[in-house]
Amino acid sequence: MSLPTSPASALDRHARPLRNLRVSVTDRCNLRCAYCMPEEEYAWLAKDRILTFEEISRLVDAFASVGVDRVRLTGGEPLLRRDLDRLVALIAAKPAIRDIAMTTNAITLPDHAAALRAAGLGRLTISLDTLDAERYRALTRRDDLSRALAGVDAARDAGFTGTKLNTVVMRGVNDDELARLLAFGRERSIEVRFIEYMDVGGATHWSMDKVVSRTEMLERIASDMGAVETLETEGTGTSAAPADRYRLADGTVFGIIASTTRPFCGTCDRSRLTCDGQWYLCLYAAKGIDLAGPLRAGASSDELAARILGRWVERDDRGAEARLAAPRTPLDVSELRDDPHLEMHTRGG
Ligand code: SAM
Ligand code: SF4
Ligand code: SF4
Repeated sequence: MSLPTSPASALDRHARPLRNLRVSVTDRCNLRCAYCMPEEEYAWLAKDRILTFEEISRLVDAFASVGVDRVRLTGGEPLLRRDLDRLVALIAAKPAIRDIAMTTNAITLPDHAAALRAAGLGRLTISLDTLDAERYRALTRRDDLSRALAGVDAARDAGFTGTKLNTVVMRGVNDDELARLLAFGRERSIEVRFIEYMDVGGATHWSMDKVVSRTEMLERIASDMGAVETLETEGTGTSAAPADRYRLADGTVFGIIASTTRPFCGTCDRSRLTCDGQWYLCLYAAKGIDLAGPLRAGASSDELAARILGRWVERDDRGAEARLAAPRTPLDVSELRDDPHLEMHTRGG
């Protein structure tokens, strides 16, 4: 198959470009968030199948040659992968990659922030769902709020700007903390993004009544903090940004990611690569596409790129929209044990 002359021509069946690659660098995590890893024990991916940094770098090259220009490192907890700054440096050295970011729970960020920044990591998103220590312990099953807060400070001290805070809002768990989290973000010039609770793999205790919708979040924020102004979407035409953005009278800007009640599949330019080289065209895709096999069998970069492009142009996925249209039930623990690739912490959030 011949490759396109311009990466911009890699469009799927809904004319969505291939732009954004989320790379899950490990399926392991040091937290056990109730909405992601409610079990204590998991079936982990086999160590010998985990891609080396050089292998990930080769796959990123192939993706870049067919249009990817943004990479986000995620997991599991990406900071559990030793010497991650080495992977950041490999990716940051690629001229085609204009943006390299990472999503982290920040627990060990104080140990790594400076090295990651020096290696070329551009931006950080820190996941933090509560500012209450007891709640944090209940929600993550680890007593680590003070370490996570130290991680937030470490990002600033290392010189990161534009850091964002991701908060999954769950009814009866942390839905009374929106104003407090916004104040926390404002004091640190960090934009908070509230995420609707999603029925992704791993969220085995999900139910619609625990979802706090974007509409309800806005009503609560307005009643606690006054008028909320809607801003233009942050997407610039070159990126499909899922967050709707808002501003309070005091200038505080925040986002809401309404993945459950108002999915953004129509403009979705993201796909996910697991740490054992399986490529998922949608967060909800049942099956991945094996890239590790061809890579380890000696496929050239052009062959890998052709495989990627061939699958992307056939992409029809609109997973969250489909789930909105039909009655939904979360995945079962036994299904997840049988195929750990269905887990959010494996395919990357
Ligand atoms: N461990 C890192 C962290 O938590 O930032 C990176 C991986 S985590 C899977 C990535 C993001 O997915 C986090 O912001 C997390 O809050 C989000 N996430 C996980 N399960 C979710 C769910 N059921 N609904 C909404 N967001 C979820
Ligand atoms: Fe929580 Fe992220 Fe770990 Fe999932 S991968 S349990 S969201 S810290
Ligand atoms: Fe994209 Fe799938 Fe999420 Fe829709 S559900 S926004 S297609 S990853």
